Amino acid sequence: MSSGKPRRFWNSLTFRLTLWYTGIFAISSFVAFLFFYLFITTVIRERTDQELLDQAKQFSVVLRERGIRAVESFAVLEAQAAGVRKVFFRLLYPTGEAFSSSSMSAWEEIPIRKEAITQLLGGSSRVFETVILRDRQDQVRLLYAIIGPGVILQVGRSMEESARIIGAFRGIFLATMALLLSLATGVGWFMARRAVSGVETITRTAQGISGGSLEKRVPVKTRGDEIDQLAMTFNQMLDRIQALVTEIREMSDNVAHDLKSPITRIRGIAEVTLTTGKSLAEYEEMAASAIEECDRLLDMINTMLMISKTEAGVEMPARDRIDLAHLVREACELFGTTAEDRGLTLSCTLPEQCGISGDAPMIRRLIANLLDNALKYTASGGTVRVTVSETRTQAMITVQDTGIGISAGDLPHIFERFYRCDQSRSHAGIGLGLSLARAIARAHGGELTVTSSPGTGSIFTAAFPKPGSQDAVV
Ligand code: ADP
Repeated sequence: MSSGKPRRFWNSLTFRLTLWYTGIFAISSFVAFLFFYLFITTVIRERTDQELLDQAKQFSVVLRERGIRAVESFAVLEAQAAGVRKVFFRLLYPTGEAFSSSSMSAWEEIPIRKEAITQLLGGSSRVFETVILRDRQDQVRLLYAIIGPGVILQVGRSMEESARIIGAFRGIFLATMALLLSLATGVGWFMARRAVSGVETITRTAQGISGGSLEKRVPVKTRGDEIDQLAMTFNQMLDRIQALVTEIREMSDNVAHDLKSPITRIRGIAEVTLTTGKSLAEYEEMAASAIEECDRLLDMINTMLMISKTEAGVEMPARDRIDLAHLVREACELFGTTAEDRGLTLSCTLPEQCGISGDAPMIRRLIANLLDNALKYTASGGTVRVTVSETRTQAMITVQDTGIGISAGDLPHIFERFYRCDQSRSHAGIGLGLSLARAIARAHGGELTVTSSPGTGSIFTAAFPKPGSQDAVV
């Protein structure tokens, strides 16, 4: 079974994860490139500025040692040596007027900026500028510096070579980026597929289950990652659901079976009376038997409802202050005659008082169920011992018998609804007493436990938290 709407590719988690991966990769690569680019351009500019300063220093030395004429020819020679399209030198008066220069044929556009001269005369030792030559589509780095009294040098250097280096760097970056981005998309896609494949397996299993096969499980790898955790949790949930469904199925089978017997009996009684009954006394007997069977049925249905309500927390027990010793004393008195009739010894060891907070009718029902079982499943001549004891945090009722006991195979099941051990089928009962007793104990924050061995007897212990102690009994 598939979900209603067809899934669009760009809505898929795989696509979005790939997009995120590629996006983050592209942004981080771009930021790294930007830093590198700024670093390279700064280094190149600083190197050019240093070269210009060195040249200005050389001019200053020539002027000091050999005079202005030597400087003029030095400018021409230096420009020719470096290349007249690469560098130029212009000598200026403090008024800004040029009085000598190297070849300026390639540099006609270069202005003499009055502000730079003013800055120099105002005290600055050097003034740098960058000028763009539109004709040559080139950048020029300029230096204005005073090289001697009344002589200013304007030196310019083409940045063509630096632009070429940066251009090459940009080209390499773009090609590398394109390559890396396609690689990142591939890797991102692969990783997203791997991450999502586990979820898809779980989805497929869930779809299989909603199609009816509750036995299916998601394969769990041994990686121990989040997907494995999800798969394990999902499988645990399925185990639980399957156990519940089986339990519900068994229970409804049991309910149907247990309802069938009394109804069949009622029908049988009615049929026999109708076909053979003649007198009023026979009809009265039939009505009495039918009422008895109906009472049994009602008792069973009410017990089932009570277990369900108590387990679901719908029937919350009252939190009255009750005395366990008193309730057990009452029960022992009540069951005393039954014990006697069956040839059993019933002994009660009780403290003066044992206070807990709880619901008296519910606890009475629990004690009655335990005592009824102990007397029912112990042969004549045996003993049933009931004890109430307490610790700092718990109050306990222990019902110990020397009866038929319970086998290790049956022991985990006796608290399930309608479960009856094979050897007890000859005794009356419907298999709900212990389920109800445990539900009552748990609703009080307590627990009902058992130890037993066949032929020796059983010990049932119901433990309740003492008022004021925070810990529920587990
Ligand atoms: P019921 O007694 O009506 O069958 P319970 O839920 O009270 O139902 O008990 C479930 C089963 O546990 C019983 O059928 C019986 O096999 C076993 N059992 C309970 N109490 C005892 C006991 N004291 N000694 C031996 N078996 C017991």
